[in-house]
Amino acid sequence: MRAVRTTCAYCGVGCGIRAEVTGERAVVIRGDAQHPANLGKLCSKGTHLGETVGLEGRLLHPMIGNARAGWDEALHLVAGKMRDCVERHGPDSVALYVSGQLLTEDYYAANKLMKGFVGSANIDTNSRLCMASAVAAHNRAFGEDVVPVTYDDLDEADLILLVGSNTAWCHPVIWQRIEAAREARGTKIVVIDPRRTETAEQADLHVPVQPDGDVALFNTLLAEMVRRGLADTVPAMGEHGLSPDTFAALADLVATHPRMVTVFSMGANQSIAGTDKGNAIMNLHLAMGRINAPGMGPFSMTGQPNAMGGREVGGLANMLACHLGFSESELSDVAAYWQAPRMCSAPGLKAVDLFRAVHDGRVKFLWVMATNPAVSMPDAGFVREALAKCETLVVSDVIADTDTARLAHIRLPALAWGEKDGTVTNSERRVSRQRALFAAPGEARADWAIIADVAKTMGFAGFDWTNAAAVFREYAAMTALSVKHGKVLDLTAHAGISDADYEALDPFVWGGRHPLQGREMKIVPVEPRTRPVDPDFPLRLNTGRYRDQWHTMTRTGLSPTLAQHRREPLLEVHPADAAEAGIADGALARVVSAAGSSVFRASVTDAQGRGQVFVPMHWTDAMASGGRGNLLPDQSVDPVSGQPGFKNNACRIEPV
Ligand code: SF4
Repeated sequence: MRAVRTTCAYCGVGCGIRAEVTGERAVVIRGDAQHPANLGKLCSKGTHLGETVGLEGRLLHPMIGNARAGWDEALHLVAGKMRDCVERHGPDSVALYVSGQLLTEDYYAANKLMKGFVGSANIDTNSRLCMASAVAAHNRAFGEDVVPVTYDDLDEADLILLVGSNTAWCHPVIWQRIEAAREARGTKIVVIDPRRTETAEQADLHVPVQPDGDVALFNTLLAEMVRRGLADTVPAMGEHGLSPDTFAALADLVATHPRMVTVFSMGANQSIAGTDKGNAIMNLHLAMGRINAPGMGPFSMTGQPNAMGGREVGGLANMLACHLGFSESELSDVAAYWQAPRMCSAPGLKAVDLFRAVHDGRVKFLWVMATNPAVSMPDAGFVREALAKCETLVVSDVIADTDTARLAHIRLPALAWGEKDGTVTNSERRVSRQRALFAAPGEARADWAIIADVAKTMGFAGFDWTNAAAVFREYAAMTALSVKHGKVLDLTAHAGISDADYEALDPFVWGGRHPLQGREMKIVPVEPRTRPVDPDFPLRLNTGRYRDQWHTMTRTGLSPTLAQHRREPLLEVHPADAAEAGIADGALARVVSAAGSSVFRASVTDAQGRGQVFVPMHWTDAMASGGRGNLLPDQSVDPVSGQPGFKNNACRIEPV
């Protein structure tokens, strides 16, 4: 038996794992009691990771079409197609679409290749779908994408507001931590969510805000605090759909508990007003001075294991590496550091626009890494069409047959969790190591190494890393540029880390516990905004996750234990809406939107608000003939962040 300390493959809580390798592809998973993020706890997904490390369904060799190819041939084909595309159509005809499942080293290599050597910022990530609005809100309020709290602040809060977050299901170990705070110090818990979720059931107060009513609610709350003499910035108010009693109960809790943390997640971010929601939350904290001290602050919980690490190294099309932007001096500093021959000059296409550009032929070469946009993007039917039309589609993945991989011209086998080696950053800015438990299967390779080999095949210098530690050193040294430009992000202490020290690296938080202390912060005026009502589609559709599934189920779908929690995707609908549509509990029902339709089994429940329905987003064509949640949302995005509005889409329901 061999014990390895590593980090969970799934959510942004970033739990430490102590993995006991008991045989070839066999591992016993336990929580790492030494890891500060989880102190030994794990949720069901992390606990059952051992059931997902088999090799069934794996992509183990490079494939050109349906024929197995050698690495040399595949790399030359990818490099040749990319170079040819740049030469014939310019750098913006090339794009990369990457993932919060990648390690920071992978992300760093991909960004360097695109932004410094191909010469386009057309590299975006599926993190655009989960927290881009929080990033934009941080940038507007703090001048940098910085989360101003750590998990310790949850332990020391007297009031925790959970906004658009089904924490008990989606960030379960954080929920356990919140419950422990309630036990230890009587912390009050408020859930602000249109649905009465499992988390709301356990809260001291459930605030059933209308979909997209959050800005109005937080602005009104701030106005109420001004009225009570606890703040002095009067915002624009608006309609949040609450009873006066519920609002008064919320206002009383806020007024009397200065140690307040507001956790917000996808229910806030995945909206056409997601950035404004983030700023409305931050405004309340700033106006009341509830930030930069123990037990207080706004807290964006990220969805993916390395969404934060990707943000640090420029994983979004509108950022450069190290939290830098596109000013002349930032561009020239990055170009000099990389000795970049063809530095990009402007932000690239964000996810929804990127797939539109693939659809209309502006992007001709697309390389998708570690994600499944044919299922996970909004208006997924359109995205599938775009992928099918793409001149050259390259997919790097661990699974041979995802809905996206099926459309690829070239497939490259990547290392999976348990095989790869590198770092991730969790929601509280804690950098942890993911370590290999098993040898690489077949011909699978690390993503950073595949990217580096394509770059070298294209003739580019600066990609001669011999291991993940070398990539990390280069990134850590580069954060001297963030410091130079007045940013908090600073990993320069690790710039000279040896391979052995990288191997043994303990988890650490960059920026410390309250990194914005003494820094300029500002209140950003925001006004309530929502989608128009359409009489053909009178209901409001929200999408989301189940407790025991992850994304498009390519990993969690392998675990028989996890499948027991929810065996099929359900349409959750209020009894009055179900009766009006003639749909009985347990019957099949079709959900129809302007973008598409799909069939679900109905679950009639008063946990849904009247006029609202909910479906999950995990199921794919490969698994079921219906239940395709992401066929339904349209392509609307938040105008500031470009994050798609998965929530609050217009729909109707029909019996089948
Ligand atoms: Fe993994 Fe998230 Fe569960 Fe922790 S809470 S074990 S990181 S899925």
